[in-house]
Parts: sequence; structure tokens; C-alpha cells
Amino acid sequence: MTVAVFGSINIDVTAYLERLPRPGETLHGREYKLGLGGKGANQAVAARKLGSTVAFIARLGADDFAKPARRELASYDVETQLVAEDREGATGIAIINVGEGGENYISLIGGSNLRMDDSDVARGRSELEKASVLLLQLEVPLQATLAAAAVVKSHGGTVILDPAPAPVQGLPPEVLKAVDILTPNETETGLLLGWTPSTLDDGLKAARELRAKGVASAIVKLGAKGLAVSSGEAEATISAFKVKAIDTVAAGDTFNGGLAHALEQGLPLLEAARYASACGALSTTRKGASAAAPTKAEVEEFLSSSEGGA
Ligand code: ADP
Repeated sequence: MTVAVFGSINIDVTAYLERLPRPGETLHGREYKLGLGGKGANQAVAARKLGSTVAFIARLGADDFAKPARRELASYDVETQLVAEDREGATGIAIINVGEGGENYISLIGGSNLRMDDSDVARGRSELEKASVLLLQLEVPLQATLAAAAVVKSHGGTVILDPAPAPVQGLPPEVLKAVDILTPNETETGLLLGWTPSTLDDGLKAARELRAKGVASAIVKLGAKGLAVSSGEAEATISAFKVKAIDTVAAGDTFNGGLAHALEQGLPLLEAARYASACGALSTTRKGASAAAPTKAEVEEFLSSSEGGA
């Protein structure tokens, strides 16, 4: 039983500044960090830290940024055998300026992530064929993403699509039909439906509307409020666990990694969503993306000692 991830890897170059610079202005920052990012990598690490066997299908450039990316994936024990080195593409880079109170500007250069195609699906085919759950996002081309989904669907695996970054042009109906579980946040839901949910009850209404558009199940993620689930078998709103959040970067990715792990372990959807919510909540209590994702033991300890999530 494995979790497969077909998606992006970025190196995040983050500059920490007193405030964000104005156009044309040069500011001295306090420090910078070079770290692993990309929604695919974040979700792969999150599932791996929980103990899932993860098959990660991705691309890096043949450049100096590929080395720290591989090293960090390996440090989280994520196999990089299916991470190809693309001689014609550069490693994806996110240049992040963080100003006062955590507000940020992000410039994303997708590089080799944007060159993923059917050859990546072919390279990962034998792993996709045995995956019980597949995690997808929107940082690599949709055509290849759908081809990976089709392989996993054909043997009855569960396909989870995080429609992030927010799809400004919406998603074609065939995409909604190709996945089992769609997991948008508030903004992404707004783009998909034309209205933005702000309460848990709104979230449930939105999840139902997404199902009416053709996706089998929808989980609408509402940050510190929690989430709403609608599927053929069950519906619920689940309030968030109460934590002291200091950094919400990659909370959604950690949630999806947790959801995949819980489903792979055989939990029903609502229980899996609650488990994932605990993963998302825990990740906000620490800085960083992959670094902030919890281990299985941390989630179990948290679940046995916390209130909320009901
Ligand atoms: P995204 O990062 O995609 O915008 P969210 O911010 O909605 O996703 O986070 C995903 C999930 O993580 C939420 O539905 C919730 O369960 C949990 N979560 C996120 N932020 C918090 C928070 N401040 N406190 C508790 N749980 C949180």
C-alpha cells in the first residue's frame, strides 16, 4: 500500500525583511532561508512523516538547486528514485519576501515542474498502478496530472486533487469528474463556485455545490475555522482544533498528506478528515513547510490530549 504524489518541487528562497520593499527600492533584510517547497514535495513529506510509503513522481533541473532539494527530500526519507533530472529545465524556485507581520510577496518560477508530461506518468506507472491514494495539485501541467489520475483510478485507487494554487480560470468539468476528493481552501472554492464561503455552514453548502458540479467528494478547508465534508456516504462540518498558530505556511499541504495517510490506513472519510485536520493544526504551531509537518506519534499524542475537531 503506497501513497503516490505526482507534483512539484521548488526551492524556496525566503528573505525576512522589516517590511516589504516598494517598487524600485532595495532593502536590507535580516536573514534568508533556503528550503524545500513546492506543493508536491510538501505533501509527499507530510505523508512520509506519518509513516506512509510514498512514491514521489516529480522533476528537478540539472542545476545547483537540485542538490539541496534531493538532500532535503532524503532527510525526510522520501525516495527520490522517481524524481527525474531534467537537462533542459531549471529547478522550480519560489522567491519569497516576508515583511512585517508575515505578509509576503511570492514570485514562482515553475521551471522543470512545468515540463512534466506523459513521460513522467510512464516513469511512475508501476508505482501509480499499486498506489492506494494519489495526491495531486495544480503546480504541474494539468494534462499530465489527469493522465496520472487515470492510472490510479483504473485500479480503484483514490485520487485527491488540491486545486492549488487557485485556478483563476476555474476547472473544466472533466477534471472534477477525474478525481475522487477535491480539497479547496476558501479562495480556491471562491474561484470554482463564484462565491466564497466564510463559515463552516457555508463550507458545507460549497462542498455540496462542488459535488453537484461532478466531483464525488469535496472537503472545503477553512483555515482556523475548520472544514466541511460532503460525500455520497457522509456529510459534516468539523471545527478546527484549538492551537497557538505561529505560521500557517503549508497547513493545507500537511492536511492533504494527513488525509492520504489516514485513507491509506483504511479510515472512513470523516475520520480521515479529522485526522488530517489535526495534522494541519499541528503544522501551524511551527515555522516552515515540510519542517512543520508532524510525525505519527505527534499526531496521536495530540489527538489523545486535545479538544475540538468535532
Ligand atoms: P490552505 O493552506 O490550503 O489555505 P487551510 O489554511 O484551510 O489550507 O488549512 C488546512 C486545514 O488545516 C484547515 O482546514 C484546518 O483543519 C487546519 N488549520 C489551518 N489553520 C489552522 C489554525 N490556525 N488552527 C487550527 N487548525 C488550522
